[in-house]
Amino acid sequence: MRTKIVAGNWKMNGSRAEAESLMSELLPLIAGNTNVETVVCPPFPLLAKVEELIAGSGVSLGGQDVFWKEKGAYTGQTSAKMLLNAGAKYVIVGHSERRGRFGVPEPDFNEDILAHFGDNDTVVNRKTKAAIAAGLIPIVCVGETLAERKSGDTDSVIIGQVSIALREITGEQVAALIFAYEPVWAIGTGEVCASNEADRVCGVVRETVGRLFGASVAESVRVQYGGSVKPDNAVELLSMPNIDGALVGGASLKASDFAAIVNAG
Ligand code: 13P
Repeated sequence: MRTKIVAGNWKMNGSRAEAESLMSELLPLIAGNTNVETVVCPPFPLLAKVEELIAGSGVSLGGQDVFWKEKGAYTGQTSAKMLLNAGAKYVIVGHSERRGRFGVPEPDFNEDILAHFGDNDTVVNRKTKAAIAAGLIPIVCVGETLAERKSGDTDSVIIGQVSIALREITGEQVAALIFAYEPVWAIGTGEVCASNEADRVCGVVRETVGRLFGASVAESVRVQYGGSVKPDNAVELLSMPNIDGALVGGASLKASDFAAIVNAG
């Protein structure tokens, strides 16, 4: 049996004071829940603060991104070791808001695409390997755009993203990591993917892992769904056989909503 895992991706939100009030409201609401692993992923400057706030609660800490180099002249970057040292156990890798768009000339740059940082599949693979090497558990995000879905390419996009992310990683390492299926068109839009379709695509992730690493690795790897997960759709999504949890954006910033999602698992 795979333990369900619900992670809150705060994205670029929160101050020390907001983190304090969010966590003080959240922790009592999920204190009795031992079925679901809960993770919060605040922005880097809040990691230390949130580590203090969750001490002894059973909630784990995650980073939102990682650079693959260990140290050196990489201004603005954060290594896997640094995250571990800051108390993180998990790190989100390849979120759609970090994939694509690098070097897009200004006239063509479209803020609404919300994918600004040029992480391609090779970069995602490097970051995944660096996270594992340092002892972090990566949450590897995959997902198709609306255009890819409309042209019938969803499964091939997912298979490609999963396969490249896992290059040069052992089956044992893959069994311990987390995937998050986040259809780009469902992120921050309020338009959730239907639970049977979300389950089907999470199944495609699992089948791909199975083809590459065998059935027992596929049985162990956990696959979250992400994209407009809210208290009113969480029970149905989390009851699907291939969905092992949720990666939650907007609703993770409201204690009662995030608690309801955790408690739906
Ligand atoms: P929303 O829950 O706000 O749609 O965001 C999902 C997401 O991107 C989590 O990583």
